[in-house]
Amino acid sequence: MSFFKVSFDFMLVRELINVLKNFPRKHIFTLLIGLILIISISLLGNIKFTEKNQYSELTKSLSLSSLTDGYQIDIPPIEKEALIKRNDSLFTILNKLGVLQEDIIKLINSKESSLLSKIEVGDKIKILMNDKGELLKLFYIDDIKSGIQAERNEDSYSISKYVSKIEKVKVFKNVIIEDSMYVSGLKENVPDSVLMDLAYINGWDIDFTHDIRKGDSYSIIYEEIIINGEKVIDGDILISEFNNRDKKFIAVRYDLDSNTSEYFNLDGQNVKKAFLRSPVKLSYISSKYNLNRRHPVLHTIRAHKGVDYAANKGSPIRATGDGTILFAEYNGGCGNEIKIKHSEDYVTRYCHLDKFSSRTKVGRKVKQGQTIGYVGSTGLATGPHLHYEFHVNGKHTDPLKVKFPNASPINSSEINNYRKVSQNLLNELSNYKYLINKREVYGG
Ligand SMILES: [Zn+2]
Repeated sequence: MSFFKVSFDFMLVRELINVLKNFPRKHIFTLLIGLILIISISLLGNIKFTEKNQYSELTKSLSLSSLTDGYQIDIPPIEKEALIKRNDSLFTILNKLGVLQEDIIKLINSKESSLLSKIEVGDKIKILMNDKGELLKLFYIDDIKSGIQAERNEDSYSISKYVSKIEKVKVFKNVIIEDSMYVSGLKENVPDSVLMDLAYINGWDIDFTHDIRKGDSYSIIYEEIIINGEKVIDGDILISEFNNRDKKFIAVRYDLDSNTSEYFNLDGQNVKKAFLRSPVKLSYISSKYNLNRRHPVLHTIRAHKGVDYAANKGSPIRATGDGTILFAEYNGGCGNEIKIKHSEDYVTRYCHLDKFSSRTKVGRKVKQGQTIGYVGSTGLATGPHLHYEFHVNGKHTDPLKVKFPNASPINSSEINNYRKVSQNLLNELSNYKYLINKREVYGG
């Protein structure tokens, strides 16, 4: 309708212009302005009219649907939780969460409410309530596995103990190292705790600061602990395969008869060895040792015969093997220095320490992994780092190349079972790898 009206206006204008062609110019101009004004006003009126129409239609359809008989929106219950603090009682907590007082009293007067009489600081209470403050459900969470639940009945609550459903799910990851073992793992969504475990398991074979090269890779199967369908924690690594340059390290977790778990290679040798590869834990290495950001450490000791670890001042330094403290004091360019004698053949040396650990005294015994001091820059050092040396039979040896003696292998009584367990895990690992490669081929 409005379209016809507008074109009609224009036709009228054209005719008027024709008629007025003979009038003096001044007059035509004034008339034109007047006409334009009239047309624009009528156009505006049209627009307003159409908009009004649309609004009313919209309102109509809305009121229609909301008037449908028996239609009710289900409001989901409100979920709230509180951590139990000192001087809290069940009443004060539920009151604070906004539960109706009559419901709290109903809960306390319910049968088996004695289960809820002892609440402990640090435990958690989770509730489901509606917008009226009515308590629908309550969970008293004792630990991740169990607790007490209360469910609303007509005029009381049924209270009982519950045990959560715990599942373990195997997760497979395959990582090709681009920057560092740690950073590349994070990029593939390997959890931090799993990466630290991987560094621990391989810590006797690989120095993650110096040994890793771009293109190295690892594949792992680890467990995720799922409780009531929700992932709660990342569990242990079951198997790891680490390809470091031309070497392959496989470690399999095995539950020993003595109720402990240890990692072994495929021959049943414990991955633990007499010496750790690195005296500084991966978690303390500067920027988790990114290959592209490797610190250019200036070797300040003449005829450099060791390896350097860039780490923040104060990072703990660990003894790489069991032994006895041979030397622990300030010594020239080495700064604060520690020497450990491990056997007749092996001595390790640590330089530039900020401080010694209070237990580091000459003649005292140390255990592998024990903190002996802290990273610093004493002596001839430009920045905080640890200089580490490995001496065999009094000679400097490259700590990255020295072969370490093995720790005790798996018991002969358990070796057959271990072979089965490790073979199964190895098969699973290669199946996963096969599937991933196939997917990559098809994915282009
Ligand atoms: Zn050095």
